[in-house]
Amino acid sequence: MDTKISLVERGALQKVGSVFVEAFGHTPALLIADGNTLRAGGFETVRSLEMANVEVQQYCFPALPQPYADEHSIALVHQLLQQENRIAVVLGSGTLNDMVKRASYELDRPYMVVATAPSVDGYTSYGAAVSVGGFKQTLPCSAPLVVLADTDVLSDAPPAMIASGFGDCMAKYTAGMDWILADLLGVQPIRTDVWDMVQIPLRKVYAQHQRIAHRESQAVGLLFDALSASGFAMQVMHDSRPASGAEHLISHIWEMEHLEKDGVPVSHGFKVAVGTLAVTRLYHALCSLDVSACVGRPMESWEEREASIRAFFADPLVAEQTLVIAKSKFLEGKALEDRRRALLALLPELQDRIAAQLPAYHQLEEAMQLVHCPIRPQEVNATMEDLKRAVTGAQMIRNRYTVLDLYYELGLFDLALQLL
Ligand SMILES: [Zn+2]
Repeated sequence: MDTKISLVERGALQKVGSVFVEAFGHTPALLIADGNTLRAGGFETVRSLEMANVEVQQYCFPALPQPYADEHSIALVHQLLQQENRIAVVLGSGTLNDMVKRASYELDRPYMVVATAPSVDGYTSYGAAVSVGGFKQTLPCSAPLVVLADTDVLSDAPPAMIASGFGDCMAKYTAGMDWILADLLGVQPIRTDVWDMVQIPLRKVYAQHQRIAHRESQAVGLLFDALSASGFAMQVMHDSRPASGAEHLISHIWEMEHLEKDGVPVSHGFKVAVGTLAVTRLYHALCSLDVSACVGRPMESWEEREASIRAFFADPLVAEQTLVIAKSKFLEGKALEDRRRALLALLPELQDRIAAQLPAYHQLEEAMQLVHCPIRPQEVNATMEDLKRAVTGAQMIRNRYTVLDLYYELGLFDLALQLL
């Protein structure tokens, strides 16, 4: 694991300097912030570094327009870091972290993040969500060597950022359920140690959702811990499976389509929140599924499948990439019959596991609403038709077995869309 030090506590900003020295000695630092995050913790961060005899320079992005992680901002940070042999200390949330993470990686240099909002689990993961040539991609990079968060700063973050992190955290219920399904099918076995890293903190956060809604410092700290732990789990697995299932694939389609509300991109956690409720609904519906409805259901041919994928993705390059993945998981003939038999055989156990893993739909919805997460597509500026479209695309794009594949392979994908 890349991350060697993780400190999340009240008053942690006062320890930025000593923790920096512990990790990097007295190497000079470059503090990277934006107008908002500088106000939230810039003064304390700089003072703490100076008190620890670390020479520090600052670079501040404007508060508006919001900084955007793309090839231009990364090149700027890269250049700043290259000029002198400095270690980056990024004061901010997901976007700033992504650009500094990538720029540091390009220079083969470790870095430290001082988080200002519990908005996303990407702080501690490998990879940075970056837009290159207008397309959102996850570029490879190392995770931060040091993660520090002051729970007083986290709980002062804008409510929408806390809600976004809560949505990304609740997504671990459905991501976990997809992993259980893949495990039962023999597609991807569960690693218990990694499972516990994600699923135990998740339950603590869910139990504390009312206190998180009230932005109580300790409870918001638990949310940050849970999000960090997801990142650590992905570091250990070198795979996002522990933290990401069908709900993330739905969000990914909306990211590709640049879903915006009021001229601003809808946050990752908000898209994922709507996806999580949709997937929860699909799983609970399996508990009352009439097995006889699955027998002998027609399945589209590969030619039909190829045509639907080409029709879905306007960009021919994306369509080609998707076709490769879709072909690799497309089953027909005896392979499809065997898969259907296997799915129907495991259905009773799957139903028990769904009941044990997932909260009741309305309870999860109520918790999300209380924390100000969107619970309907309309709240992220999408229609029900848009959600159905995103779910359709989500089943096409990755070779990760999820509940969407189960519905598809049983010939019940139309039913899934009706259930949303
Ligand atoms: Zn996420």
